[in-house]
Amino acid sequence: MSKHPKCYTNLVERAREASRLHSIAALLGWDQETYMPPGGAPARAEQAALVARLHHEASTSAEMGELIAECEADSSLMSGDTQEAANIRELRRDYDKLTKLPASLVSALAETTSQSQHAWKTARENSDFKAFKPWLEKVLDLSRQKAQCLSDGKGELYDALIDTYEPGAKASEIEAVFTPLREKLSTIILNIRDNGTPPNTDVLDRSVPASQQEAFGTFVAKSCGFDFTRGRLDVTTHPFCEGIAPGDTRLTTRYRESSWTDSLYGIMHEMGHGLYEQGLPEGEAHGRGDVPDQSGLPCGQAVSLGIHESQSRLWENAVGRSEAFWKWALPHAKEMMGDVMADQTPESIGAAVNTAKPSLIRVEADEGTYNLHIMIRFELERALLSGDLSVADLPAAWNERYRTFLGLDVPNDRVGCLQDVHWAFGLIGYFPTYTLGNLYGAQFWAAVRNEIPSLDTLIAAGEFSPLLTWLRDKIHTHGRRYTPNQLCERATGKPVSDQPLLDYLTAKLYPVYGITQPSGV
Ligand code: ZN
Repeated sequence: MSKHPKCYTNLVERAREASRLHSIAALLGWDQETYMPPGGAPARAEQAALVARLHHEASTSAEMGELIAECEADSSLMSGDTQEAANIRELRRDYDKLTKLPASLVSALAETTSQSQHAWKTARENSDFKAFKPWLEKVLDLSRQKAQCLSDGKGELYDALIDTYEPGAKASEIEAVFTPLREKLSTIILNIRDNGTPPNTDVLDRSVPASQQEAFGTFVAKSCGFDFTRGRLDVTTHPFCEGIAPGDTRLTTRYRESSWTDSLYGIMHEMGHGLYEQGLPEGEAHGRGDVPDQSGLPCGQAVSLGIHESQSRLWENAVGRSEAFWKWALPHAKEMMGDVMADQTPESIGAAVNTAKPSLIRVEADEGTYNLHIMIRFELERALLSGDLSVADLPAAWNERYRTFLGLDVPNDRVGCLQDVHWAFGLIGYFPTYTLGNLYGAQFWAAVRNEIPSLDTLIAAGEFSPLLTWLRDKIHTHGRRYTPNQLCERATGKPVSDQPLLDYLTAKLYPVYGITQPSGV
């Protein structure tokens, strides 16, 4: 190890302390969602608030600010494409973001979004948009103020918000990718609806006991490379993955006997997030002696929500919904889940899990239609934030887009513009990261298939490590060293574009629906 100046060693120590507080908060949160008895809720809220305050103080201390400035002034640290320079750059980024917002705005946002969540819940139940309207107006107003502070008045306000989830992303650049993609996706989906023959999906509705689903899901995760000595899988209501700390990544899922694919693909999705967390460079103490220990530092953290989502979608969809995967998985599924699989072939099940049908609800949407839901939200929230669209006009604008792009009439706001919790939570600028994740995922998938032409054969033989090694080398091991776009270019040779996703979906969906002549794509 090279010797570092004192300011850098001290900065690393402070950053790691802050990161440990974040780990504690994450563990409290995980426990709350999995094992905590309901009676523990009030005390847990106090514990979480205390740790959050300590974390905020540690991350925004004057000492932290001085150490960052001292490191920035040291040219031996800042020159070149090194992990040290990247850590200092990213710690500066985090520090500025946390210190730019006045405390009054932070507490106003916390209070308003807490109340607006309650208002949204009731409004959604009653399909009563008018009841939610004043809250959405307040959230938007505070979000504009937040964006003003973060952007120092420069550029489009929306950019400052999306930047907190997807560093460096710009609304205009996203629009340039999304707008043509939306037309082309819509064409594919409507073509399938009008001209395709849906596959037989009986197998998806067959009942499988939760214990069998768990055994099979765990087996798949282990086979794909998830390390259960450095991770766990537990049950929760709303599945998530949490990288608690180095060497400790927690996956969660839920089991419904009537829908075994929910848990399988839920596990594969969270496992994709978990493999990313387990692949971050955490050093020898945490089982990764091949790379310098970056635990608790930016280079040991995931770079963005979009890149995180690219990993989950790649394993869930590109791998888990492929015929190659089922060539390997089906005999095991037959063994572990019994009779329900008896009449299946890799082809039949590969088709059944790849249906594409326009639907009203985003979280229930399939791989083919999902991005259309996101693009509609991106366009609307951007217009709401800029003021081009008034909150009062939101339901009509929403419904019109669902008609145009998904061919659906929205019967009420409960299944329309009130369905998602994001805006009530103040998460403006979050939605596009889902589709960016799908775009990145498809582009990584195309690149790895190009570099490993035998990938299908390997997967069909249950050999997942060449794929995981590629992802480790190209993505996981870099942490936040590069921006998401730089990472994409380094991994695939190109900036992110819509073509790999379109090629992937067409190649997959048209055969499933018996459409041989793609028209208009
Ligand atoms: Zn995800």
